[in-house]
Amino acid sequence: MSGKIAVLGAGIIGVCCAVELQRRGYDVTLIDKNAPGEETSYGNAGVIARSSIIPFNHPGLWKSLPKLMGNKSTSFRYDPTFVAANMNWTAGFLKRANLKDFNYTTQALDDLIQLSTRKHEEMASILGIADKLNRKGWLHLYRQKATFDKSKLIRNTFDKFNVATKELNSDQISNLEPDLAPIFAKGLWIQDTMSFQNPGDLVKAYAAYFTSHGGILTKAKIQNLEKSGDGYKLTLDKTTHSKNTIIVDQVVVALGPWAKTFLKKFGYRVPLVFERGYHMNFSHDKERKLNRPVYDIDGGYVLAPMSNGVRLTTGVELAQQNSSPNYSQLAAAEAGARDAFPLNKPMDSEPWLGSRPTLPDCRPIIGQAPRHNGLWLAIGHQHIGFSTGPGTASILGSLISEEASPINAEPFRAERFIT
Ligand SMILES: Cc1cc2nc3c(=O)[nH]c(=O)nc-3n(C[C@H](O)[C@H](O)[C@H](O)COP(=O)(O)OP(=O)(O)OC[C@H]3O[C@@H](n4cnc5c(N)ncnc54)[C@H](O)[C@@H]3O)c2cc1C
Repeated sequence: MSGKIAVLGAGIIGVCCAVELQRRGYDVTLIDKNAPGEETSYGNAGVIARSSIIPFNHPGLWKSLPKLMGNKSTSFRYDPTFVAANMNWTAGFLKRANLKDFNYTTQALDDLIQLSTRKHEEMASILGIADKLNRKGWLHLYRQKATFDKSKLIRNTFDKFNVATKELNSDQISNLEPDLAPIFAKGLWIQDTMSFQNPGDLVKAYAAYFTSHGGILTKAKIQNLEKSGDGYKLTLDKTTHSKNTIIVDQVVVALGPWAKTFLKKFGYRVPLVFERGYHMNFSHDKERKLNRPVYDIDGGYVLAPMSNGVRLTTGVELAQQNSSPNYSQLAAAEAGARDAFPLNKPMDSEPWLGSRPTLPDCRPIIGQAPRHNGLWLAIGHQHIGFSTGPGTASILGSLISEEASPINAEPFRAERFIT
């Protein structure tokens, strides 16, 4: 394959796309205002989750909706003005909380996650870091048996897609994780899930592979993108890069939550909202540890072991990307996490805040922009971008090269939301 391609954004999605296109023979420039993997792809829990095939708007959402709307749950908060300003998204999101859409989306996400898991494995072994992938799975933990019982649809769906799981009682949980307090009545061990301590480092490792194979990594803020002849002209912020413009044949937009504003330049109003999430890293005594990430379903948080502590990540806060942080959800999650595991001091001077970019059907867009040949989109990866970067890249690479996609790419087409 030949031709110049610029990949905009060096999070997990952009970096994986850059590597894939480079391996297919394109001349690739990867551009980010930061070093690779320093935004959303830095702050996540690092779980490459075989089980993340369940959209948040599954049919069971209706029963929990009244409680969630109370705006006090640890797993979900919202800014009412943001929700009101995004009523179309909310209506579209709720409209899809039915069995038919659920079945379609779980099939699509299962295809994408299985493909991505294989590709993460391949890439990690090429880089010689396969031993750094934690293969001990992750645990869904339930303080109340009633919550476990309510998760039947989710567990049946795992079975349907052959996700390897094992139901645990409280003794079995303690055997697997002896340093967790015995407060969980039930657990589900998702066994075929991997995780990576310090997710930003995995992105950096993939980016280093790209540059060591001749790829160009440009640190600059992208100011503008416009059509130029048969290709595109990129304008970079002068204060961040000496070269002001780059001309390329094709462009991949992998700007995570920033894609929404960026694509308005082309008249695309992408119905993408920000499911914000916080994290704080904590130290712990050396003799205490977690062997794998754990998701306290009733507590509404994930605790994931990192190289020098544990990372507490929160659930969803629907709010404007840049509005002020509200640390009450993190405080509630911290209180719950302290019940479960002996956290010591916070290790960061202030909590991290990032945004999961989410479309109403909880599937990313992977494909060409409807009215612009050569403008490709890899956006909207909500809670699963760290898991699905390599599969996204594999689909996009095949579409750009006009080859058959490795999985059904139809569920990810841009045309379902923008024309
Ligand atoms: C709290 C939390 C926990 C999560 N846990 C998990 C998990 O365990 N597993 C999982 O699979 N997913 C998880 N996710 C989701 C995952 O982190 C995201 O889906 C994923 O990181 C999105 O990647 P991205 O490459 O699209 O975006 P990003 O990583 O945000 O990358 C976009 C890039 O674009 C760059 N950029 C933006 N604007 C410009 C500009 N004008 N010029 C130049 N560069 C620009 C940014 O600097 C950034 O590097 C979690 C998310 C959160 C918030």
